[in-house]
Amino acid sequence: MKISEILAADRPCLSFEVFPPKSTEAFDSVSRAAEQIADLHPSFMSVTYGAGGGTSLYTLQIALRLAAKGVTPLAHLTCASSTREEVRAQLARLRENGIENILALRGDIADPAACRSYRYAAQLVEEIRAAGDFCIGGACYPECHPESANDREDIQHLREKVEAGCSFLTTQMFFDNNIFYNFLYRVREAGISVPVIPGIMPVTNAVQIKRITSISGSPLPQRFRRIVDRYGDRPEAMQQAGIAYAVSQIIDLYANGVNAVHVYSMNKPGVAAAIRDSLSEILQPPVGRDGV
Ligand code: FAD
Repeated sequence: MKISEILAADRPCLSFEVFPPKSTEAFDSVSRAAEQIADLHPSFMSVTYGAGGGTSLYTLQIALRLAAKGVTPLAHLTCASSTREEVRAQLARLRENGIENILALRGDIADPAACRSYRYAAQLVEEIRAAGDFCIGGACYPECHPESANDREDIQHLREKVEAGCSFLTTQMFFDNNIFYNFLYRVREAGISVPVIPGIMPVTNAVQIKRITSISGSPLPQRFRRIVDRYGDRPEAMQQAGIAYAVSQIIDLYANGVNAVHVYSMNKPGVAAAIRDSLSEILQPPVGRDGV
């Protein structure tokens, strides 16, 4: 099923992300974790793409495991470190295996001169469109992509990417929902009308924090820092508090009319299950006035 169809349905969507193994030895444990998350019946699941090297093939293999479990997979694909031929070969593999949804990404690059056939994700979106009937998504950055000079330029390039053929966008993680609401306002003002799925990261251990601040590019809100200061050295308490923080963000998003939320579940079935359970009633389809 295409993710655009899932997003168009009149019910709240909750999706999860997993990342593929970095080695053959880890394949079984990663695919087991992904399948356990699939057992929670999310609206769809995304599988990230490790740019370059043999591990990129695992994205497809994990996506197929999810499809076998009845969950619609969204395969990520990056382009910066690939040649046009490599991208085309991966697209052919995805098509032959019945994968219908691709998140088109550039990938992180230390030096733009190191890009091979593609410089920006929009070029990959065009390539995917030419390769078949895929539903294509793109990434977006409520706190601005670090390479963009300013928000205006960031949104302008985002609009070009959507015009190239994206049916939906997924955001980088954020920890203050007002950042997302402000971003959504600017996105709509710029005439971008596709669904924008907020990406929520449950922070369940203090080690994640440093990496997260460098990725999101902004300091964590004080409310969240207090939690880390208080519980960061008590793993179970930190996990509980991190899940509760993510759940409160998600409930606020649904309550404010956002229909779909994506959770960076980091191959942790326990965390995904705790979030899913906390939302069990909230995820029910809206009930009409007559109770039907
Ligand atoms: P782009 O859309 O190309 O944007 C990159 C920068 O270039 C932005 O600053 C943009 O404004 C600018 N730009 C775009 N077009 C132009 C233009 N014509 N002229 C000048 N500037 C322009 N990485 C992985 O390696 N694997 C993954 O699986 C993965 N999954 C991700 C999922 C999500 C939801 C997100 C938010 C990120 C993910 N990433 C992943 C990270 C991503 O690859 C990096 O953030 C990367 O730096 C940018 O990718 P992009 O697709 O957003 O690039």
